[in-house]
Amino acid sequence: MAEEERQCLLTITMFAWFLLPLILASFANASPGDRDPLYSSCVEHCARTGCVGRSCFSVCNVPINGGGALGVDGEEVLKKPLDLGLFSWDCTRECRYQCMLHREAERQSHGLEPVKYHGKWPFDRILGLQEPASVVFSLLNLLAHILGVVSFLVLLYHKLPLRQHGKGVPYYEYAGLWTIYALFAINSWFWSAIFHARDMNVTERLDYCSAVALIGLSLILAIIRTGNLRVEAARVMASAPIIAFISTHILYLNFYEFDYGLNMKVCIVMGVLQLLLWSLWAAYTQHPARLKLWIVVLGGALAMLLEVYDFPPYKGIFDAHSIWHAVTVPLTYLWWSFIRDDALYRTMDLFNRGKIAKKVE
Ligand SMILES: [Zn+2]
Repeated sequence: MAEEERQCLLTITMFAWFLLPLILASFANASPGDRDPLYSSCVEHCARTGCVGRSCFSVCNVPINGGGALGVDGEEVLKKPLDLGLFSWDCTRECRYQCMLHREAERQSHGLEPVKYHGKWPFDRILGLQEPASVVFSLLNLLAHILGVVSFLVLLYHKLPLRQHGKGVPYYEYAGLWTIYALFAINSWFWSAIFHARDMNVTERLDYCSAVALIGLSLILAIIRTGNLRVEAARVMASAPIIAFISTHILYLNFYEFDYGLNMKVCIVMGVLQLLLWSLWAAYTQHPARLKLWIVVLGGALAMLLEVYDFPPYKGIFDAHSIWHAVTVPLTYLWWSFIRDDALYRTMDLFNRGKIAKKVE
């Protein structure tokens, strides 16, 4: 290993371990916005009257003079706008949103910084989407994975040689694993987009559980690929404890306690572990695409810093979390490019070895 690579490896290892406590500390953040008595009284008033300041809203079904459909008691109420109905914005949530905007406008006029409400920054809703930037970037990540896996499968089955005796089985030993990985990633980004569109108990659980399953599978893949595990028994031995742990963790979250702190620790430990495995492997291997791997690992680690320096949304739209989702889009593209390179490298190696073996016979 070259001295430069050794230095690089040391830096990334230290970086990863310094990152861990920082991220854990960042999750100790409370939400000062919803503890503000002015905000609480605004929400209470809104629930009773359907109004915040001079603006009144139809979702509370409070009778409002001047038009609309007939209510249960024969009085006139306004209809819920379609985009709000679609994303289940009920009276309580609408009041919370409007009071948050109201309080933030007041705070801004006094030169105060934005604060979080119920664990979230004050975002401007667009078309009923709670965090529009995170929704768009989640969908772009989803698209990057779909394009990535399609190009990977096209390469494997249409461009690279296939094993003759296995009826179209690729030479690449990790083809099945990367395909399963793509399915987990697509599922995870789908629920991420839904959760950012509308934060509800069910969408939150689906997003968190899909993410933890993806991180667990990525760790299994990191162990199998960096350890060059090609024998079935070795793969089962490496993956079984992780699958058991992830299954137990998901059951615990859903049927015992939805512990955010514990879940975040689990995700970070598994994330840092795979980061270390890939960086160690990139430093030792002579793989032709190791530079791409380095960029993804370093880029991924740097992107995690955005979660640490969790800044409020710029123009009410782009917060640190949404930028993090934006950064992972090009990294995903590069990641699939590395996977394709790996498939090409391994296939050509195995194919050439097969040809040499035939010549010797
Ligand atoms: Zn997210």
